[in-house]
Amino acid sequence: MHLEHIIPEAAGDGSTEENLWLACPLCNGYKGVQTHAVDPLTGVRMPLFNPRIQDWHEHFSWSADGTEIIGKTPVGRATVLALHLNNPYVVPSRKIWVVAGWHPPKD
Ligand SMILES: [Zn+2]
Repeated sequence: MHLEHIIPEAAGDGSTEENLWLACPLCNGYKGVQTHAVDPLTGVRMPLFNPRIQDWHEHFSWSADGTEIIGKTPVGRATVLALHLNNPYVVPSRKIWVVAGWHPPKD
């Protein structure tokens, strides 16, 4: 996992605990220095989901088969797209995790 800066250091926020989160290398790479992205449904530019201050279940859900993350809100949809949360590497992995009974998370 990578220690990810929610607001990039280049934008002025530092390495305070409130601005750090663990992210897999793929998600961190897709996020880059982005802080906002366009909601594909409304076309409105939205801030990316902030796991420090927002609730995952308010903004996302799992698809019925447990393999894809569905954005439920403008923030959720923009984040799914910007971070490629259903990329061709992770969805096949989730399919295996579902068969193994490890996925989706039960919380
Ligand atoms: Zn990831």
